[in-house]
Amino acid sequence: MASPRPIVVLGAGIIGLTTAVKLLESPVYKLHGHPVHIIADHLPNDPLDAKYASTIAGAHHLSFAGDDDTRQSQWDRETFRVMHDEWSKEGEATGLMLLKQTEFYVGTSKHLKIYEEHPDFEIRDVKGKQPTADYSVSFTSITMTPLTYLNRLLKRIDTLSDGACQIHRFHLQSLDEVSHPAVTAFLGTAPPLAVFVCTGLGALTLGGVEDKTVFPTRGQVVKVRAPWIRSGFTRQVGDLNGGEDGERTYVIPRPDGEVILGGTREIGDWYPYPRPDTSGDIIRRVLEICPDLQPAHRRAKRGETVRGQSVDDSNSSPPSSPLEDLIVTHLVGFRPSREQGVRLEVGPDLILNGQRNIHVVYNYGHGGAGWQSCWGTASDAVKILETLL
Ligand SMILES: Cc1cc2nc3c(=O)[nH]c(=O)nc-3n(C[C@H](O)[C@H](O)[C@H](O)COP(=O)(O)OP(=O)(O)OC[C@H]3O[C@@H](n4cnc5c(N)ncnc54)[C@H](O)[C@@H]3O)c2cc1C
Repeated sequence: MASPRPIVVLGAGIIGLTTAVKLLESPVYKLHGHPVHIIADHLPNDPLDAKYASTIAGAHHLSFAGDDDTRQSQWDRETFRVMHDEWSKEGEATGLMLLKQTEFYVGTSKHLKIYEEHPDFEIRDVKGKQPTADYSVSFTSITMTPLTYLNRLLKRIDTLSDGACQIHRFHLQSLDEVSHPAVTAFLGTAPPLAVFVCTGLGALTLGGVEDKTVFPTRGQVVKVRAPWIRSGFTRQVGDLNGGEDGERTYVIPRPDGEVILGGTREIGDWYPYPRPDTSGDIIRRVLEICPDLQPAHRRAKRGETVRGQSVDDSNSSPPSSPLEDLIVTHLVGFRPSREQGVRLEVGPDLILNGQRNIHVVYNYGHGGAGWQSCWGTASDAVKILETLL
């Protein structure tokens, strides 16, 4: 009897790795034992690269799903549920942190309905309070530490497959290269049963996909060390009708004491290095929504009262940036955006040398929401393959 044909997951970001986990947990793998191979240019422990969004991301769970967008809401809801369960079972070793998230709105007095599903949701009183805002809500949410979480997924893939799932660093120029000798050398000569395309921005240039509606949304952030920050803050300027428009400023603490400060949303901008002016602007904005980022002694020096006494700062020289000695690094990443949003659907079968069909399932184009929707989209991608079979 012929051995089962392999299944390829192309891409090892948060979308590829969650898709691989869901596949290994599905009957397709458990009952039929198709060997699973992950093929990717970038792998989780590589040096950071703007094109590998998953390792640069903040990341927090703050849905952008519009009130009528049931598809996105369902993906985001499922991901929150899965991550909340993981955190409940294993705590912050997961790289996940459960925290109070406060949203400030300027120029709008409306929150997205999905936030009401979060634990501890409340509308906050903003009158006469700092920072100045037109509206504010708070609720319990989750932040993710990308490297910790991605490495745990790699371990889980290894456990689920009993060490059989192979991960290959390889750049595929085109989908039909799965039959190229350089690939069949590790995949075997039987044509794959299916390929999951989880290539993020790579979908723009990957032959056989070449989706010209995919584009980068550049994001620059500052990573600082501030372990006393254990709550998240975001300020949204402009309307939030679902989608990611408007200026957003955010403070994303992680369990390891590092905090991501952001951000920017520069559409179509491929500049991969940090711009100093942008970092200065980010620090100015985050201090408006989270002044506690400054260490306590420095807040005191700036004239705040310590135990009822005002501290005189006139003889000390302030650092050039108020957070300078906390800064770990500056990062830039490209969110894999797509004009119509996520592409999660079956593509035309790939036919190689006029022979057996290879199913193609797309799961890319998550923009700035790949972390908070990953488990929902992975489930749907694998369900698509189950239906095809
Ligand atoms: C600054 C910033 C902040 C963010 N904050 C958040 C947040 O708070 N919450 C949130 O949900 N999301 C956030 N995001 C978005 C999130 O990071 C992305 O949506 C998510 O990482 C996309 O994952 P992905 O796996 O599709 O893509 P990627 O992580 O880019 O991975 C793509 C994979 O495909 C591989 N690949 C591509 N083409 C090929 C090819 N031809 N051959 C072989 N391999 C290929 C790559 O090597 C890589 O392994 C943020 C992003 C940035 C940049």
